[in-house]
Amino acid sequence: MSVTVVGSLNEDVLVRVRRLPGRGETVVGLDAALAPGGKGANQAAAAGRLGTGVAMVGRVGADPAGDRQLAALTAAGVDVAAVRRTPGTPTGSATIPVEEGTGENLIVVVPGANAELTPGDADVEPVRSARVVLLQLEVPLATVLAAARSATGTVVLTPAPPQPLPADLLDRVDVLVPNEHELLQLSGAAPGDSSPAGLAALARTLGVGTVVVTLGARGALLVHRAGGALLQAPPPVDAVDTTGAGDCFCGALAVALAAGAAPDAAVGAAVTAAALSTTGPGARGALPGAAEVAALRS
Ligand code: ATP
Repeated sequence: MSVTVVGSLNEDVLVRVRRLPGRGETVVGLDAALAPGGKGANQAAAAGRLGTGVAMVGRVGADPAGDRQLAALTAAGVDVAAVRRTPGTPTGSATIPVEEGTGENLIVVVPGANAELTPGDADVEPVRSARVVLLQLEVPLATVLAAARSATGTVVLTPAPPQPLPADLLDRVDVLVPNEHELLQLSGAAPGDSSPAGLAALARTLGVGTVVVTLGARGALLVHRAGGALLQAPPPVDAVDTTGAGDCFCGALAVALAAGAAPDAAVGAAVTAAALSTTGPGARGALPGAAEVAALRS
């Protein structure tokens, strides 16, 4: 395998509302739509659109929502042979009311089958053989650690949702990809200096060889533990929805690293792919292909 993602698959239930409900309040939604989601599956879909040899390791329920998640990943070019079904436990879901006009949202995640992904599930050939293994924190930490231990290739971790990371996991991570908020949480720093130099100093306290801090419309900052830091700005795009831009970034970074790109070139490709992903709706509405990314970088 070129890239193997170990992580979550969710079904997102997107409900448009005129106004988000307050505590104890009922509001009537305008409409509801189902969309494939989950950080792991979003990263895999982004990687699958950009490269070949992309596999997903995860769990879904033996239910129609599970069928839909597998079909969506397959359509994105992802090998789902290592996604197991969990009878009796539903596919994970995220219910997301989104306020019209402001785009503000609330998110209620039910982990479902994602919580059943075991360390044994992650100790499999697609993880052992992958050039890049892509991890996040929406499945049990013991499973994330098992995947990092089984990997022989480059291990890339998105520390989201943020939580304290044990040293034996960080020891096995080659590239950590936090956003600014996650970097502050992990380093225990108060919000303050968000200059590239200030963020690079925080990133170096984490003890990982390479940290890539994603900075929304500012792009991404590549920080080497012993060495320099490089901020790469995105190309100009008409961003309409940044949901999942971080996931696209990680999928694209993994594909580029697996193809042998140097870290600065891989971050450049990821910044471009993630910028393109913001030009359409939802997490997977505008995932770019390799030709689109190459066209913007030439
Ligand atoms: P999300 O949780 O929505 O997936 P995130 O907080 O993990 O996002 P961000 O730092 O917001 O991650 O964005 C990831 C990358 O997406 C950025 O590094 C940048 O390359 C790209 N990006 C995000 N927002 C924009 C934007 N408005 N214009 C261009 N590129 C963007």
